[in-house]
Amino acid sequence: MSALSESIRIVLVETTHPGNIGATARAMKTMGFSRLSLVNPKLFPHAEATARAAGADDILETAQVHGSLPAALRDCVLVYGTSARLRYLSCPILSPDQAVSEIVDVATKGSQVAIVFGRESSGLTNEELDRCNKMIVIPTGNDFSSLNLASAVQILCYELFKAHSENKLPENYMKGRVENATSDELNSLYEHLQECLVEIGFLDPDKPRMLMRRLKKLFNRSNLDQNEYNILRGILSAVQDNIRQK
Ligand code: SAH
Repeated sequence: MSALSESIRIVLVETTHPGNIGATARAMKTMGFSRLSLVNPKLFPHAEATARAAGADDILETAQVHGSLPAALRDCVLVYGTSARLRYLSCPILSPDQAVSEIVDVATKGSQVAIVFGRESSGLTNEELDRCNKMIVIPTGNDFSSLNLASAVQILCYELFKAHSENKLPENYMKGRVENATSDELNSLYEHLQECLVEIGFLDPDKPRMLMRRLKKLFNRSNLDQNEYNILRGILSAVQDNIRQK
């Protein structure tokens, strides 16, 4: 479990109630997870967080605090957003079951994976969801789909714990597989793509419409590996060299 725990981080974005941060730490520790990242928490550290951690204070002590979501995701090769509701133009939506088997596969190899949780009041913004490769929605019984933040963390950590215990893949299963492109690399690919599309006249910067969002959705879905990322960057540079010579 420790290798898995090193590779999976729980990211909370702009949490309002410090009690939820403490309850999240407790939820994580009970399932053997320890890496907690906080993006602009409203109140942290806070006595309420420590009280609700109920013995998982070590997770709070080692929690990383970041000023932005990209900073929290820098070295991640797979980013899962979580949401209580389906969103317009969102990335592929997975059930916890589907998501955890993928996550365990990738994280067992040591690649960094993030699961991102939104604000209590409004969840994640579209811009934040654009940073996610996939989205996880925990199914609920009726029209009321919004779980408490720490309850959502608990369910996913439990599912990960179960999937890991059931994962009987041979140790060398991932050997030879090429590492995925990181979140940072994907972002620079999008910037490069946008620049290139403007240069070739396909994207009008004054009327961008939804083009970049749709393209990000396409690439986020495809789990680009390092080779594919390098090929795409190479193609974009070749296109730019070509038109700049004319
Ligand atoms: N009103 C908000 C709900 C936020 S609940 C909204 O409509 O998005 C706070 C966070 O808990 C969410 O951003 C999400 O990360 C998590 N969460 C709550 N319910 C969930 C569900 N059914 N599936 C997945 N994540 C959920």
